[in-house]
Amino acid sequence: MRSLDELKLRLEEERQRLRADIDAVAKRPAEYRPTVESYYGNHLADAGTDTFEEEKALALEAHLVGLLGKVDEALRRFEQGTYGICEECGQPIPPERLEALPYATTCLKCRQPTARRAR
Ligand SMILES: [Zn+2]
Repeated sequence: MRSLDELKLRLEEERQRLRADIDAVAKRPAEYRPTVESYYGNHLADAGTDTFEEEKALALEAHLVGLLGKVDEALRRFEQGTYGICEECGQPIPPERLEALPYATTCLKCRQPTARRAR
């Protein structure tokens, strides 16, 4: 089994990668950025074609920000010493699950709402 330190390292790398990705999405090519210049300089007809790209970028950004939140949360749990403990049942999360999903907060059993209800 790998050490928790290694998982923490992976999470920190993931966080850096996500931040870089979010930056890349946020700093879209100049033509997608509404600037004062483009607003007054371009035909209004151009605005329509950019909207779709803009929406795609926003959806991707939202997805990445959501992931970053999970990674941040996992790292916070490291600080608090609760990393690898299931939020629902308080049992240790199996290492294989953490390997596959380092920011998991519940064990496989508690992941499904039906299992929670059956308890
Ligand atoms: Zn559990």
